[in-house]
Amino acid sequence: MPGTVNAERPTPAQLAKGALRRLALAQVEPTPEHYARAYAEEAGTPAAPVPAAEPPAADARAAGLAWVQLVERLARQLPRGGRQWTQARRRDSLQRVLDGSRSDALRLQQRLASLITAWETDQAADPVTSGLDDGGLAGAGAPSEPAAAAAPAAPAGDSGAWNAVVASLAGTLRVSLPAAEPDAAALAQRLAMAAEAIAADGATAAHVLHVSELCDEASELLGRGHRVVERLAALCHELTEGLAELTEDDGWVQGQCQRLRAAVAGDRSVRGLRAAQSLLAETRQRQRSMLGERRAAREALKRLMQDMLREVGDLGEQTGRFRMVTERHAEAIAAADSLPGLAHVVQAMLDDTRTVQGAVARSHEKLQADQARAGELELRVRALEAELKRLSDEVSTDLLTQVANRRGLMQAFEAEVASCQREATGGAEPQLAVGLIDIDNFKKLNDTLGHAAGDEALKSLAAAVRQRLRPEDHLARFGGEEFVVLMPGTGVEEARQALTRLQRSLTEALFLHEGREVFVTFSGGVTAWRPGEALEPALERADRGLYEAKRTGKNRTCAA
Ligand code: GH3
Ligand code: MG
Ligand code: MG
Repeated sequence: MPGTVNAERPTPAQLAKGALRRLALAQVEPTPEHYARAYAEEAGTPAAPVPAAEPPAADARAAGLAWVQLVERLARQLPRGGRQWTQARRRDSLQRVLDGSRSDALRLQQRLASLITAWETDQAADPVTSGLDDGGLAGAGAPSEPAAAAAPAAPAGDSGAWNAVVASLAGTLRVSLPAAEPDAAALAQRLAMAAEAIAADGATAAHVLHVSELCDEASELLGRGHRVVERLAALCHELTEGLAELTEDDGWVQGQCQRLRAAVAGDRSVRGLRAAQSLLAETRQRQRSMLGERRAAREALKRLMQDMLREVGDLGEQTGRFRMVTERHAEAIAAADSLPGLAHVVQAMLDDTRTVQGAVARSHEKLQADQARAGELELRVRALEAELKRLSDEVSTDLLTQVANRRGLMQAFEAEVASCQREATGGAEPQLAVGLIDIDNFKKLNDTLGHAAGDEALKSLAAAVRQRLRPEDHLARFGGEEFVVLMPGTGVEEARQALTRLQRSLTEALFLHEGREVFVTFSGGVTAWRPGEALEPALERADRGLYEAKRTGKNRTCAA
């Protein structure tokens, strides 16, 4: 594995590189026999001098050596299990490589080398199936190793193959590293130049050595990208932990933290992360408006309480004044020496009492009204908080399109799997097609007609698809502008035809926006669910079909 330096025993890749360096320094032509001898010298194994008259034997020995190394790596890696490449996936992908390359030994070797490299680095991409699907070179998706691993079997003499491998490696680098990464662009450029040099001069040892060094750089760059992703995931994890602790009292944030944690810790497929992101963005938008309303209700409650306090203070003042007045009246009563004088004091006392009684009654009424209003506001705040929590926890229906959301999809999938299991025990062959639908050029629709029109398109498309599916089929919004269809009792070809028919039936305008007709198309990918497998791997396969449909012109459906 690149980057694993073993001081005691060099790896086959290091030996291959050392052999090439020997040939370059000695300025010896890199024929298969020279390469095999240099490789043996590098490895410290006695190399029988190969008679020049027998190049095929040397060739065969070098090829044999490569196969031995490959099988050793295979034997080491097959029983292991990684996060991406579980044991089952390893067995499954190996079978597919064997099935797909039986008639072409060189191709089989290249694909095996790519596959084992993917296992060793535990990369998410499935270079094997992508290689099988698009007919490309097996090196795609596992760019660091193939040149070195394949070196003993396809020594420098085969410049056509080398040229293709190097060109494919350059292309792979371009797609697998961010376009903004300057090192990546420069490296892809240098690889392209190396491919040109090989095309012009043939695969001289110096050229091949140069390519091998570029491979090391590529593996370092890809490793760096991988480490950045790991760090970002750890950062997200810390952030959500912190947020969850800080917002202990705001239960509605907890649901989002949980979702983010699950997305970062679980299967980190691009589609899974994309769906989690769009779900969070959508939830946040709806919560933002509710938070505004809750803030306003809280402010109103605060103002009301201040009013009530002021009122109580006023009342206190009134009653304090009344006490002073009654004390004064008491003194006047004590001092009164005539009945008319006493009557005068009593009249004044009655007037004061009425005034205070009126003020108290008014305050009492106002306080009661304020109390009722405060109760209402508090109820509203509570209702808004409950709604926020409900949004965060997500129910099983998507609010915008009114079809199932991811939770609803999982429930439907589990029910279908249970039904398949029942059928299987009855001896029938259970079938369940899984489809992915993704609106074409949706970003452009949003950008030109606005977000509200985008929402309308999502609603209308969901309704149109739902209407055209059979009652027993399930439709769910997976996130953003992506939907999943489950079709029980349906084979993959039948499902592909059903989605294609659906696409053809959307030739009329989907809806009207400001009086203008809006047309929407979608691309689809379908696959057959394999008994015993979870939904996620089936969706991964359907996603490959979807990608193929997008790649080959959109508004079509491909099976995977
Ligand atoms: P492609 O044909 O390759 O699928 O291109 P695209 O533009 O459809 O795909 P892309 O993934 O580039 O853009 C998807 C857009 O969908 C971006 C995002 O703003 C928008 N989107 C996601 N969720 C919603 C939503 O709920 N409402 C609206 N209006 N837009 C959404
Ligand atoms: Mg999309
Ligand atoms: Mg799209």
